[in-house]
Amino acid sequence: MSHTRGARVAADGNNGTSAGPQVDVVVVGAGFSGLYLLHRLRAEGFSVRVFEAASDVGGTWFWNRYPGARCDIPTTDYTFGFDPELEREWTWSEKYATQPEILRYLQFVTDRYDLRRDITFDARVEGAEWDDKTGLWAVRTSTGETVSCRYYVMATGCLSVPKAPDIEGAPRFAGEVYFTSRWPHEGVDLTGKRVAVVGTGSSGIQSIPLIAQQAAQLTVFQRTPNFSIPAHNSPAPADRLGRLAADRDAYRTAGKWSRGGVPMEATDILGGTASEDVRRERFEAAWEAGELFAILGVFADQGVDPASNEIVSEMIREKLRSIVDDPETAEALCPKDHYLGTKRPCLDSGYYATFNLPHVRLVDLRKSPITTITEAGIDTAGESYEFDAIVYATGFDAMTGALVGVDVAGRGGVTLKEKWADGPSTYLGLTTAGFPNFFALTGPGSPSVLSNMAVSIEQHVDWVTDSLVDLRATGMTRIEPTLLAEDGWNQHVADCAAITLHPTANSWYMGANVPGKPRVFYPYIGGVDNYRAACDEVRARDYLGFRLSGPGGEQCHDGVVRRLQPDVAMVLSAMAQMELPPLESMSPPEARAFMEMSAGMRPPGPDVGEVVDGVLPGPAGELEYRLFRPASPGPHPVVLYFHGGGWVLGDQVSDEPLCRDLCVRTDAVVVSVNYRHAPEARCPAAAEDAWAALQWVGAHAIELGGIPDDLVLAGWSAGANLVAVVTQRARDEGGPVVRGQLLLTPATDSSMDTGSFEENADGYVLTAPLMRWFWDHYCDPGQRTEPTAAPLRGRLDGLPPAIVVTAEFDPLRDEGIAYAEALRAAGVPVEHLAARGHTHTSLTMVGVVLSGARVREEIALRLGALLREPVEV
Ligand SMILES: Cc1cc2nc3c(=O)[nH]c(=O)nc-3n(C[C@H](O)[C@H](O)[C@H](O)COP(=O)(O)OP(=O)(O)OC[C@H]3O[C@@H](n4cnc5c(N)ncnc54)[C@H](O)[C@@H]3O)c2cc1C
Repeated sequence: MSHTRGARVAADGNNGTSAGPQVDVVVVGAGFSGLYLLHRLRAEGFSVRVFEAASDVGGTWFWNRYPGARCDIPTTDYTFGFDPELEREWTWSEKYATQPEILRYLQFVTDRYDLRRDITFDARVEGAEWDDKTGLWAVRTSTGETVSCRYYVMATGCLSVPKAPDIEGAPRFAGEVYFTSRWPHEGVDLTGKRVAVVGTGSSGIQSIPLIAQQAAQLTVFQRTPNFSIPAHNSPAPADRLGRLAADRDAYRTAGKWSRGGVPMEATDILGGTASEDVRRERFEAAWEAGELFAILGVFADQGVDPASNEIVSEMIREKLRSIVDDPETAEALCPKDHYLGTKRPCLDSGYYATFNLPHVRLVDLRKSPITTITEAGIDTAGESYEFDAIVYATGFDAMTGALVGVDVAGRGGVTLKEKWADGPSTYLGLTTAGFPNFFALTGPGSPSVLSNMAVSIEQHVDWVTDSLVDLRATGMTRIEPTLLAEDGWNQHVADCAAITLHPTANSWYMGANVPGKPRVFYPYIGGVDNYRAACDEVRARDYLGFRLSGPGGEQCHDGVVRRLQPDVAMVLSAMAQMELPPLESMSPPEARAFMEMSAGMRPPGPDVGEVVDGVLPGPAGELEYRLFRPASPGPHPVVLYFHGGGWVLGDQVSDEPLCRDLCVRTDAVVVSVNYRHAPEARCPAAAEDAWAALQWVGAHAIELGGIPDDLVLAGWSAGANLVAVVTQRARDEGGPVVRGQLLLTPATDSSMDTGSFEENADGYVLTAPLMRWFWDHYCDPGQRTEPTAAPLRGRLDGLPPAIVVTAEFDPLRDEGIAYAEALRAAGVPVEHLAARGHTHTSLTMVGVVLSGARVREEIALRLGALLREPVEV
């Protein structure tokens, strides 16, 4: 491929204007991101200028020179991996390298690839304006220079804008003031001084032990205690070095396709079910490893399950209490207001033990807040302190601070700051609609700060560079995401966060440390691996979600790259890996045995007050039922439930987790009744049994602990089909009072010719062939259009209110929607819940598909309203 220089590309494709850009690409920032981007772009033949506010390269590692500054990802991994030669030429001296060493490394990289000649130092980019006519950016710097470019890339860092201390009186202090993030290059001598450190995040925790070695008195002001574990710093760990030496490529590839950007064995051990020995063993191993991802991965569910998280948290607190001599100080240092991992945990070297030194004191600001900073020191509600120096370790305006800090004006003059006033909005964390040819490396909505950033940075740089190469090859000069794609990505980012414990914390991940900053979850928590797959897929699908244009033409493959709920996608991918035989390839008894075996492996569902098994009379013999009673005092409303399973599979316990969940959420007795199955008993046997069950439960409500006439019918899939059929019959035969019907992803018709069948016929558990198998077993073709099998074809007026739940990726979705619409047209009150990103089965996967809980909560709210509403007689 020929390398066209940017000026010529612009002249050819610049909407007819002859003036081209001065350079192809302007990059802002010369840290890990800007340096590698410059190297790659240059290698691909693009002309580039980099502007850097600092006087040299290094970014984070240029600015953060405080004592004890180190990386917290092992340097075997927190390093560039793009060039094996580079890796051969550089050897890290420690497991966690110090700031000077990392800075030396970045200087070495800069020199090795001769990067300095394209970097302008001491030049802050103050503004950038997009000109829609010319298709160029004009980038303004603090030196007075304005440079035009085709592509504008902000490699400005996630943690590069220090947060000013928002403490009353701060400017008044007459002594020395230092910020960990802007530590003087010449160093600071605190020997013999009375020093205050304000802030106990990563920088505070790293610097406090070293400041304590110099200071005559050290007072640490702590607002929120953070979790910290010992780094156990040492020479680079032999196991990682060994794996690298054995097969560098395999090791780096494993990092790229890992959750956090560091090769790790993922566990499937759950905190709640692990034995005490296993818990202890796993925790101690993580503590000894001294690695962030190890302590965050003791249990598979600690990021989503409060109880599991608490097990690890309490073990850390135990350790802490055993280190700190003074019990009151130890307790004050114990984090209790957030779940482990929802704020960035720290790695330390002797942090907790520092509080045993006689000249070190902790001030708990939750008990005694700072009232003001004075000329002489700090006043809290309880005491006045005098200091020679105050060190602020107060963190950063993370993720967006550096981006909105520049006056970036896109199409129509709208600035990034204006567009993101309510929170960032990006496609892939890299681009944003209205800002053509603009890229933000490690931007909000990308894994960035939740990952090994060296790996994430390389991935972003590679993606951007590869895209610019693609554009050039196809004669395109503009790239911009569509709103549909961007909204879809924002939704996916939010969906990923919503199933974790993160939104509960007042963390900088949530923007909570900066007053007035929108409270959203800024990074992408779906994993480096999944993120990379999404980015790759966008390119493979010819820039899905982007609008491209230029002399080569115009194109837009609009769409959303991730539409499934993230946990649904995980379950589907795990199932795909198991390569299970399709159910329809089995005989019904085999399929039943298989389903029973699978059910044995799932979580049981929440605790209920009581579980009672019984039988009730059916037309062809007894029908078994299982009753779930709430823990609250009765009597309760009654939910008569019919299980799913295509009329072929399942029984009264096959949907037990869902029944328990319904029982707890609605505070109703749930009676799950079995019915005869096909092919042994074909249509209408199941419906006859369901009818008998309704009669019996209606007549025996009091014995069951229910409130008479306070009854709804509920069912999932084929069970929902029976609910619809039986409800119609109850209307016709003046049957028991039914207050409402819950139809969860119901089968309502037999035509199988809807759009949802076409879209979701394969890959979402319920497939078209399986549905055909069910119908074939259940009833003869002639029967399939009868309302007893296809309730959509029945008379629908006069039915009780319905809650119809459909799932986006369900072949039955459209017949569910059709039923809801037909009911509504017949005058029946209908609540239709469309479960976005769910499949036919995922809402029933209680305790596995966590995103389903939100939908079930909605269902329960509506069901509760039906059950408790006074009945009009
Ligand atoms: C103390 C500390 C420790 C960290 N440890 C780790 C770790 O162990 N592992 C990990 O993965 N990550 C760590 N990080 C995150 C770290 O920021 C990234 O790993 C990485 O260094 C980011 O590189 P970058 O080039 O994207 O951004 P930065 O290194 O932040 O570089 C951005 C550069 O852009 C410049 N800039 C910003 N705005 C402008 C402007 N308007 N005009 C001109 N120049 C501008 C800045 O001066 C800066 O030099 C740490 C961060 C801190 C603060």
